[in-house]
Amino acid sequence: MSAHLIDGKAIAAEIDARAGEVGAELAKALGRPPCLAVVLVGDDPASDVYVRNKVRRTEAAGLTSIEMRKPADVSEVEVIEIVEGLNRDDSVDGILVQMPLPGHIDTNRVIGRIDPDKDVDGLTEVSAGRLVLSKPGLRPCTPAGCVLLAERALGDLSGKSVVVVGRSILVGKPAALLFLEKNATVTIAHSRTADLPALCRTADILVPAVGRPQMIRGDWVKPGACVLDVGINRIDAPERGEGKARLVGDAAFDEIVGHAGWITPVPGGIGPMTIAMLLRNTVIAAGLRSNQPLPDGF
Ligand code: NDP
Repeated sequence: MSAHLIDGKAIAAEIDARAGEVGAELAKALGRPPCLAVVLVGDDPASDVYVRNKVRRTEAAGLTSIEMRKPADVSEVEVIEIVEGLNRDDSVDGILVQMPLPGHIDTNRVIGRIDPDKDVDGLTEVSAGRLVLSKPGLRPCTPAGCVLLAERALGDLSGKSVVVVGRSILVGKPAALLFLEKNATVTIAHSRTADLPALCRTADILVPAVGRPQMIRGDWVKPGACVLDVGINRIDAPERGEGKARLVGDAAFDEIVGHAGWITPVPGGIGPMTIAMLLRNTVIAAGLRSNQPLPDGF
């Protein structure tokens, strides 16, 4: 048996297009398309690429974007003033502060100032609280993308056994809560978990979100399971030439693909879904803020 590949890129393109359609409907009532504001501090090349991709996909879907770029030595007070200005700006629906921020800026203090109704990354304490309480709100993008791909692959997730490996605020914990919301039975593993391979073998859906290249081996995966590989790791690839690198996930794809039921590739799996969910959150935020109804299931 060979696993079905879950094509995150294609599904993300569908979600982008749907966000564009719903955004265009909302624009009739709002008098403008939904708008995402992105704050980028410093000149980290990876962050620059992420922000450019987010802005490009936002605009391609017919939504609008604002970029606020500041040098690495900007003060925390100034970044907070930018966030608060965007909170007050009624033409902005979503605010994203690109991570990581330079070391002299307290990330939590900055995130904490984002209006939760514009928190399209789903990272504020209010958004986290809404998630825990199963109240409507903006959900973190990467975990929301995982759940959506799992539903595309397996349909109803009710009663499925899910093992999330990793307990970060950004991925592991919200992923566990989102799968729980779908009535899956969820276990969260981390660096102190005893006999991780045996635990992973119990999973119908395995979600590695660790940041360790190819840590999840082939014999950790139950035959027929669905593996949603969140990890993005850059490793040396001398076979591609001197000094070359390639991206791999947290799962050893080649060992798993022969007996899993479904697997997301890296790249092209969960990664593209993160931006798709950001666009969707921007449209949801615009709808909620303006009391405009959103289509069922959006
Ligand atoms: P963090 O470093 O914040 O968290 C990693 C988690 O993995 C921790 O909970 C840690 O456990 C756990 N862990 C570390 N080593 C082990 C181990 N040997 N066994 C079991 N658990 C372990 O990472 P993130 O959650 O932010 O990101 C995880 C991965 O996902 C990274 O590769 C990142 O690049 C990628 N990522 C991808 C995104 C996408 O769009 N596809 C978006 C965000 C992240 P403990 O808490 O005990 O230390």
